[in-house]
Order: sequence, then structure tokens, then C-alpha cells
Amino acid sequence: MLPFKLIYSDDYFLPIGAHVFPAEKYRRVHDRLIATQLAETADFVTPQPASDQDVLLVHKPEYVRKLKTGTLSPSEEMQMEIPYSPELVRAFWLAAGGSILAAQHALKDGIGFNIGGGFHHAFPDHGEGFCMVHDVAVAIRRMQRDDKIRTAMTVDCDVHQGNGTAAIFAGTRVPTQPLPSTSASSLGSPSGPGGKMRHAHAGDVFTISLHQHNNYPAWKPHSSIDVDLPDGIEDDDYLAWLDNALSSGLRQFEPDLICYIAGADPYQEDQLGGLKLTIGGLKKRDELVFRVAKARQIPVMVTYAGGYARNVDDTVTIHCNTVVAAKEVM
Ligand SMILES: [Zn+2]
Repeated sequence: MLPFKLIYSDDYFLPIGAHVFPAEKYRRVHDRLIATQLAETADFVTPQPASDQDVLLVHKPEYVRKLKTGTLSPSEEMQMEIPYSPELVRAFWLAAGGSILAAQHALKDGIGFNIGGGFHHAFPDHGEGFCMVHDVAVAIRRMQRDDKIRTAMTVDCDVHQGNGTAAIFAGTRVPTQPLPSTSASSLGSPSGPGGKMRHAHAGDVFTISLHQHNNYPAWKPHSSIDVDLPDGIEDDDYLAWLDNALSSGLRQFEPDLICYIAGADPYQEDQLGGLKLTIGGLKKRDELVFRVAKARQIPVMVTYAGGYARNVDDTVTIHCNTVVAAKEVM
């Protein structure tokens, strides 16, 4: 039995037909965790869909109405890059409910895992990049509304920048706070090939995104810390940048909850990524996040985000390893 809960439903499956996004990965992660005896049935908790009221904590009423009534324009649907259906709407509401439940478990057990979610490209008024509803933001706003947390930090390690996250939480930044002028070099940044760390203001949610610079999204709204990584970066340099971003973030900000977005797409065999991390390196990445959180006794909520390995089995392995890393560290 695991010392934390895994939030999962078979209905996480996204009905999007033949697509680069492997919609079956959630079920495959669930099945692999059981088959390898990393988890047992009792470790899993089934979520309920988020309420419309929860989704409206982040998303604009007009956008929610379009989703519920199937009235997105063709260009809005195209921007989402997944085919609209009422079933798809239900799957995203369920993923958001799963992240709310994972956050609640994180606050109770120190860690809570959503075997799904991490839809970090969803904006308040539109979806894009395979993301319709920003489940992580919904969970944060719900925990704040319930007075369970005051502050949160997102640690986004998907290969694509967390543009939705940055946009959603930018509006709540405290404008009177001084802009940290610390440059990457004076932070003692990794000596590897030229990554760049950018800082901005932070309000009640501090956003960190570590991503490939030359990749989607073209327009990258500022996170509190953006680490723009060069193409082809390997394990050691990546881990050094992550370590640096985490220490820098936690020097500036004390979160009541860390939301770790554990994308599997920095992997060297990923079809939509251009970094060169190994499966072992990605597990070390997970361990680093969990170790840092544990040392500071900050609860962690985990979501999965992207993963487009040529062989879906690799994506499943990377996602399962995040559970292994949590078990080992926590
Ligand atoms: Zn991604």
C-alpha cells in the first residue's frame, strides 16, 4: 500500500480519435502500476467532475457557456487542436475534479497524485495545445476559496512553456513588489550551454516553467521564473537548471502547496520535444522536486501533462516512474 493516494478514473480517456496525444496513456499507467505491484487497487481514488462553479473560478463565463453548449467557433476549436465533443468536455471537467481531489489529498498526506491533468495551455477564455480546462489552476483557486491554502507554487517541467498558467496567475501579481533583478549568472547558474532564466513579479501563486525555448508556444507570457532551455539539453544540465530555479523560487516565495506538472515530453525520444533527457534523468528530475518539497515540508500535488514518445510504452514508463520517485523520496 502506498503512503499516498492516486486519483484516477477510466473516464480520463480523451475521445479525440487518432491523435499524437496518446489518450489511452492514463489507463495504461494505471494498469502498469497494478501489474508491477507498485500500487494496489486500494491506492486509487475515483474523482468526481469539478462543478461549473469550480471551473468558473478560473475560466470566463462566456468560454464555459460555449463549451457546455457546443458553440465554439471553428477557429476556437482549431486553436484547441483536439476535436470538440460533449464527451470531451466531460473528460476535462473530470480531470479538473481529479486535480482538486489530488490537492486535497496532498494537504492531508504530503503528496497527492492525479494520474492525469496538467492541462497548462488552457487560458481563462480559450483552450489551446490539447488543453480545454486548466485543472491545476482550478484546483489552486478551489483550495484558496476553501481557505485550505493561501499561496501555491507551480513547478512546470513539461517541455512546453506553461503559457496558460502564466497568463492566469499574472493577473493576481502584486504590482508593488520589487522586480528581482537577479540575473541567471549571479545566481550561479549551470555552466552548460546557454539556458536563460527570466524573473517577474509574483502574487499569491508563484509560477516556475522550465521548457525548451524553441518550441510551442510561440508567445510565452512571463511566468514568475521562466527557464528557457536550448535545444538538445541533457540530463545533468537540465537537473542543474531545475535545482537552480527551485532554490531561487523558494528563496523568494513560501508556498503552502507545490503543484508539480510532470510532463514526460522532455524525453529524448519525444515527437513534440527537442530536449535530450533519458528515462533515468526524468526520474532524477522527479526525485529532485520531491526531495526539495520534503526538506521544506511543503505538500505536493502531481499532474501528468504531455508525453509523446514514439513508443507510448516509454511515456507510460516515465509517468509510472514519477510514482516510484514519490514512493522512494516521501
Ligand atoms: Zn508538453
